[in-house]
Amino acid sequence: MSPIDPVVDREVKRRRTFAIISHPDAGKTTLTEKLLLYGGMLEVAGAIRGRKSQRAVTSDWMELERQRGISVSSTVLTFDFDDCRVNLLDTPGHHDFSEDTYRTLVASDCAVMVIDLAKGVETQTEKLFRVCALRKIPVITFVNKVDRPGQQTLDVLNDVETKLGIEAVPQNWPLGIGGEFCGVVDFDTFTAHVFDDKQGERRVVARSMPLSEVNDERMRPEMLQQTRDEMELIHTAGTTFDEARFRRGEITPVFFGSALTNFGVEHFLRGFLKLCPTPSDRNSDVGPVQVNRSDFAGFVFKIQANLDPRHRDRVAFLRICAGKFEREMEVLHPRTGKRIKLKRAHKVFGQDRETMDEAFPGDIIGLVNPGEFHLGDTICIGEPVQFESLPQFSPEHFAVLRCRDTSRRKQFTRGLEQLIEEGAIQTFVDPHAMQRESILGAVGALQFDVVRFRLESEYNTPTDITSMPFSLARWIVQSTPEDLREARVPYGAKVVRDQLGCLAMLFASPWDANYFEREHPKIKLSSIRETV
Ligand code: GDP
Repeated sequence: MSPIDPVVDREVKRRRTFAIISHPDAGKTTLTEKLLLYGGMLEVAGAIRGRKSQRAVTSDWMELERQRGISVSSTVLTFDFDDCRVNLLDTPGHHDFSEDTYRTLVASDCAVMVIDLAKGVETQTEKLFRVCALRKIPVITFVNKVDRPGQQTLDVLNDVETKLGIEAVPQNWPLGIGGEFCGVVDFDTFTAHVFDDKQGERRVVARSMPLSEVNDERMRPEMLQQTRDEMELIHTAGTTFDEARFRRGEITPVFFGSALTNFGVEHFLRGFLKLCPTPSDRNSDVGPVQVNRSDFAGFVFKIQANLDPRHRDRVAFLRICAGKFEREMEVLHPRTGKRIKLKRAHKVFGQDRETMDEAFPGDIIGLVNPGEFHLGDTICIGEPVQFESLPQFSPEHFAVLRCRDTSRRKQFTRGLEQLIEEGAIQTFVDPHAMQRESILGAVGALQFDVVRFRLESEYNTPTDITSMPFSLARWIVQSTPEDLREARVPYGAKVVRDQLGCLAMLFASPWDANYFEREHPKIKLSSIRETV
């Protein structure tokens, strides 16, 4: 045990570092904006979008975003609320998401799952939820768009429980649904918070009163009665919140509200701050690294190129996991054994940068990286440690890239190698193929566009792309060479090695993969590469 550093300990206790997961259109951007509004970062909602469009004009990296009308880069948004320092790791919202989204979750201590009341749990939410479950990241649910006619509240809880296999424990309950929605009721005290102003652009304040005293002309008496009955029903059914179960990912606390009208947003924020775990000790090759020690340690979870086209540089985003970070500090980079002075560390807000003087566990810093950091690298002070490696998830899109101009082959190879090292794309080779061509794999098809765009703009090598008929990869985690030699590989599947030399199989469909697993019980496959 290292001695506890009281300053670090105090800062850790006020940190809340989380990401929002949702299906496109569920309201993640709107909720983010409203959290910033209540966090005092914005006076008027809508400012974020304004900034986005301004930036799009000045940067050619943003040009790709602008052309596609999407957000490629994940960033961190920070604000203070009630003495908490809140770090919201923003993930791309488009359904063409990439591995960045997954990695961002690995750098979070908690996830907020936004669900549209009318649509319930949708496919992408489910996918991201599985990553949280796998990494044991606690999930808090916000059921959004209660101001629109949707499912019944009990049905949405049921949907969460059946599709995700997690118990849903409501923290509040809506007063009415659709046009009748006028507030939320706390579950533990039965206190109702009624809203009057539907403007949504500015912070709105609720009138609070016991549920029994609510008498609002916007709600039919039978709706009010239904609210009371439903709350009674849940109380008698006895689902109660249990912190340990929440942290183990067995239950999810549920809040209701409307990000658009702000109804319930502040109550959600306050409830969230109470529930969201503070940064805790993280596992490493030498056991858990104590979060509140004074020696600094953190890991790189994302590398982003060309944030600022005037500099044409790369930024490595680091999640601090222990100790205090100070500007100009000299750190150890255990992978290379080098000592590095962190001269240019930045706080990042969207695409803007600001030099950072000190930071604590849970915070994200951007390090200007002339190629020395790889994804998953640890940097630290004191004893060298290496945090657990970042998991690699199965790609869902596969393609071969070819350099259009053969005289630029060298630049093409160098550029591609660099992008693979950064984690922008995965690669697989068939060791027995005559032509050792790399098959690139991406979690979201947009990753190919980004890679091609960067090869062209940074390495001046235009490429052609041919997509390949695979739809998933499975890493071989257990088998003998004999088992593998004798295995009947289905038509259209391939045994390959990934960029780190790990054996994997590419399949055309999940059906093929399942069939192969059933037929070859001695060969164990995994959809994630956990360690190297
Ligand atoms: P994202 O794709 O998850 O980031 O979703 P957005 O925040 O962009 O929201 C998608 C659409 O739903 C937008 O038109 C929003 O104005 C709308 N929306 C978001 N929250 C609410 C809500 O609480 N009520 C209603 N009625 N519409 C909402």
